[in-house]
Amino acid sequence: MSTRWIFTVAEMISFATEVRSQSKTLALVPTMGALHEGHLSLVRQAKIQCDVVVVSIFVNPAQFGPTEDFARYPRNPEKDFELLESAKVHAVLAPSVDEVFPAGFSTFVDPGRIATVWEGAQRPGHFRGVATVVLRLFNIVRPDIAFFGQKDFQQVVIIRRLVEDLNLAVRIVVCPIVREADGLARSSRNVYLSAEDRRAAALLSRNLKRAEGLAQSGEADVEKLLAEMGKMFAAEPRLQIDYAAIVDPATLELVTHALPGSVALVAGRLGAVRLIDNLIFGPPGSSPEMKLQLALTAPQPEKESAASARPEIDSLRIKIENCRDCAAVNSISLPAREFLFKYLKRDYPNLDAIRMLVIGGCAPIGPSDSPYRNPEPANAFLTRLYELLGVKSFAEFKASFALTDAARCHAVGNRVDERTLEYCAKHLREELKLFPNVQTIVVLGDYAYQQFQRHILGRERTSIKPFPELLKAEGWAQESVRLPFYGERDLCVLYCYHPTFENKKSPSIAAYLCSQP
Ligand code: AMP
Repeated sequence: MSTRWIFTVAEMISFATEVRSQSKTLALVPTMGALHEGHLSLVRQAKIQCDVVVVSIFVNPAQFGPTEDFARYPRNPEKDFELLESAKVHAVLAPSVDEVFPAGFSTFVDPGRIATVWEGAQRPGHFRGVATVVLRLFNIVRPDIAFFGQKDFQQVVIIRRLVEDLNLAVRIVVCPIVREADGLARSSRNVYLSAEDRRAAALLSRNLKRAEGLAQSGEADVEKLLAEMGKMFAAEPRLQIDYAAIVDPATLELVTHALPGSVALVAGRLGAVRLIDNLIFGPPGSSPEMKLQLALTAPQPEKESAASARPEIDSLRIKIENCRDCAAVNSISLPAREFLFKYLKRDYPNLDAIRMLVIGGCAPIGPSDSPYRNPEPANAFLTRLYELLGVKSFAEFKASFALTDAARCHAVGNRVDERTLEYCAKHLREELKLFPNVQTIVVLGDYAYQQFQRHILGRERTSIKPFPELLKAEGWAQESVRLPFYGERDLCVLYCYHPTFENKKSPSIAAYLCSQP
């Protein structure tokens, strides 16, 4: 396969139309060329996720200010083409400025307040130019997925907003920052650094790393973290810092306390070269992908503001976010975190009123699969859960039940290992305490059963009946238990097959639930 070099919008549209007519998935990797390993990491991801990959190379004049380095921006089309050909990219779109902004072009996208802070404050109009060209590229190529780098974190936030606000039919995938051996983020502009400036540039990432280390060892106060960073930067006279900030990943507003998912942003100049970098704070040992997941699925505060302050929920959320044990597995499942942060506050104004708690197996990996986020249409799990409990809709479900999960972490896909169940039981115990008047707990499936028996009730493994044996005759089982934190009252625990994981189905327990006091 040879890489096709496309220069015109018309040819790109016909190439993309042809790809779609073959029912193939199409990826777009927008770049400004002068390609390096950072760009190539996006290309590799695109090749994994889509059938056909288009890389665009366009140094976009609309995103450079009048005094900025548009003319001097590195350009290296021959080397770019070689790299993309060896990466077996299907097409390279390299349009001229006139092709993208023909005479008479006059419509621009204004991304609003998030485009006016940090990079936006330093480079007025920059993100207006970025959003406009990206939207135009999306409309020309109409990709299924577009790939962007975390390197330009604010750009990612703005593009994701653009896609959501304008209902664009494209999925945005964000890839971690590729760095040099000494930590410097790869950037097309690095080639302009003198040898001394190149050495000094490594301080950007070193300082970010150090701030994360301080946060991981318990220093969450952002004022103190920024003061520490400031001291280190001040010791390097070659580096002129434009800003250093620790922000909320969704709003880009300064936070007072650094949490996993908070993002440290820095920008500075070495001579005439301007560099930016960022780092997402995460639990020790967390992978770059996991940190990205933490940042990109962070709750949107404006939606959350409707929820009342609930310190007990916040304190448990922070414990889960800081769960050191999660480093043992490869992905935190975020719906559980969102459940605590947002939905529990929003959907259950009175936790004391909840009498029935349902414990599922493991929280869905995709946040959109969480019924609290996407209640309608009911997915397969919800449909079967409603049948089991005898309710008709999520609104009806929510009126009587709260739904949580045995595991918030996934070792491999939906397989949950014993260690994870043990770790997550710590949080489940705390979560149970949030509902002081719970009378009935419905435990779904083998994982939740094992966890409940061993880590909530504290039973020996040898004394626990195998799940199928417990449920054998009726397809469900029931026992009365006491939990130390609920004092001297009996709780009714109902064990059922998991509505989706097991191939057996429990009969409806609705009649039984209704007869509970
Ligand atoms: P640019 O050519 O600088 O506009 O970058 C094109 C795309 O590559 C953007 O989505 C960048 O965020 C991404 N990118 C640039 N440098 C890196 C890097 N070091 N690691 C990961 N992605 C990067």
